[in-house]
Amino acid sequence: MRRFGVEQLVANLGIEHPGRAMHALIRELYPICRSVTGDGVRETLRIVSRELPLSVHEVPSGTRVLDWVVPPEWNVREAWLRGPDGKLLADLRWSNLHVVGYSVPTRAKLSLAELRPHLHSLPEHPDWIPYKSSVYREDWGFCLPHRTLESLVEGEYEVRIDSSLANGSLSYGEALLPGASDEEVLLSSHVCHPSLCNDNLSGISLLWLLGRHLARVEHRYTYRLLFAPVTIGAITWLAHNEKDLANIRHGLVVTLAGDPGPITYKRSRRGDAAIDRAAAHVLAHHGPHALRDFDPFGYDERQFCSPGFDLPVGCFMRTPHGEFPEYHSSADDLEFVTADALGDSLVALLAVLDVLEHERRYRNLAPKGEPQLGRRGVLGDAPWGGELHRAMTWVLSLSDGRASLLDIAERSRLPFAMVHEAASRLSSHDLLRPVDG
Ligand SMILES: [Zn+2]
Repeated sequence: MRRFGVEQLVANLGIEHPGRAMHALIRELYPICRSVTGDGVRETLRIVSRELPLSVHEVPSGTRVLDWVVPPEWNVREAWLRGPDGKLLADLRWSNLHVVGYSVPTRAKLSLAELRPHLHSLPEHPDWIPYKSSVYREDWGFCLPHRTLESLVEGEYEVRIDSSLANGSLSYGEALLPGASDEEVLLSSHVCHPSLCNDNLSGISLLWLLGRHLARVEHRYTYRLLFAPVTIGAITWLAHNEKDLANIRHGLVVTLAGDPGPITYKRSRRGDAAIDRAAAHVLAHHGPHALRDFDPFGYDERQFCSPGFDLPVGCFMRTPHGEFPEYHSSADDLEFVTADALGDSLVALLAVLDVLEHERRYRNLAPKGEPQLGRRGVLGDAPWGGELHRAMTWVLSLSDGRASLLDIAERSRLPFAMVHEAASRLSSHDLLRPVDG
């Protein structure tokens, strides 16, 4: 059984249905009011850390990090908007999305004209609540279904936002899962969105499950799983880990992994990093998918790939941000993300890690003519002329010490897992030797 296969994960963790386990975690995290800082992120990290060895870092507000400053910490206890007839129109207790993130404390009675600039809606989806946040500009506001906004009449409105913006800290969590080598794979997900499932909770749940598996199997690379608020969290982490970044060999930002669309992989800024090749190869065999070149919009690959770091970090997602109507709205909910899509993302991610883990070069130890496989019993019960036999032929033919297993998989159009299996069998029959150790 392959260490980086989903069957192994299932056996290892005693989880019958990984997709459902991830969806259950999403359900638990969904009601928490997260933002860039505050108790919502802490509670999220606490829940993730029940099953994953997570170290949580607190970085004080006001700390300079690269070109940025850690903002004040925001927490909200109560937020509501009452109409002229005294009826509640929006209440934090109904949905975390009703209050604009980082709203300053507010207690006011306002006319509709005064209130109107503080209200946000989605005219094209009149029943959905939009998600808005204003971390770097002092403001307050409410997000409403457009239908509610349209029904507002002249009169006096009452606003109450019992929030605090104070010196506190930014929280991020990190799980370091040591491998045989100090060389690292960085896997990162943002943790700063309130009740949104595809956008942030799907990535968190995938890393949570992957991390639990990686903590229990042997692996070549050291895995660093990062759970941090988007942008400022990644920037803070980069500022505090600059001296260790040289160890990072591969990386993925994991996000938007639970919607029903096909998988999309966005290449690193380098465009030809090993992770870019590994992901493209896996997805070619996985099913319908899309590959995109790097662009400096999106998630924290923008920070990891910035020219001063230029890390080999791509972005693994399904439908990219802004390209599904539910994006940043109350419709990105528990029904929008499915256990099947989450499970499918997991299978593909494990296959990418499987490539990274087993990618190496070999040398054919019987390179003059074809070695006589039948005499050696290398094939075992695998059929002559079948996929494994073809993979062995390719591995023997190309293993001159220069071509790697991924080179061979690409050239033969066979799945990497098959090529690796062929190489393992040939090695155990002394027909092949790894080039470096
Ligand atoms: Zn977002």
